[in-house]
Amino acid sequence: MSAGGDATDVGRAAVPGCPFCGIVAGELPARVIWETDLVIAFRDIAPVAPVHVLIVPRAHVPDALSLDASHAALLAELAIVGRRVAEAEGVASSGYRLVFNVGEDGGNTVSHLHLHLLGGRPMAWPPG
Ligand code: 5GP
Ligand code: ZN
Repeated sequence: MSAGGDATDVGRAAVPGCPFCGIVAGELPARVIWETDLVIAFRDIAPVAPVHVLIVPRAHVPDALSLDASHAALLAELAIVGRRVAEAEGVASSGYRLVFNVGEDGGNTVSHLHLHLLGGRPMAWPPG
């Protein structure tokens, strides 16, 4: 895999010790609910809402601070799979939230880009 590759080759190869690379590789268990060439969606291990799904690039992109124009197709895929998951999980009409946590103040804990999809209850604003 090379830097600056095409849309199916965005990011870096599996990073040893990265839990989400392990899930993508099938080496760690996960409750996977959606898969495309670019992304995989699975249930969060510690859900904070009735529906809590993580939508994750197959390639290891560290976080949202690592994004540039080469990730445009990947970002579109994350949001579109978010829509599909919301529909499949029955929260499309009631509403849902898509979140990237970034850095310490953002509450990021896993260094492999992931989009949280939260739904099934009203979400407070501003968030805590
Ligand atoms: P962050 O805090 O980085 O935005 O979100 C990381 C999320 O990943 C947390 O909600 C946490 O519960 C979830 N998580 C961490 N490790 C695992 C794991 O091994 N499997 C799954 N399914 N979720 C995980
Ligand atoms: Zn990774």
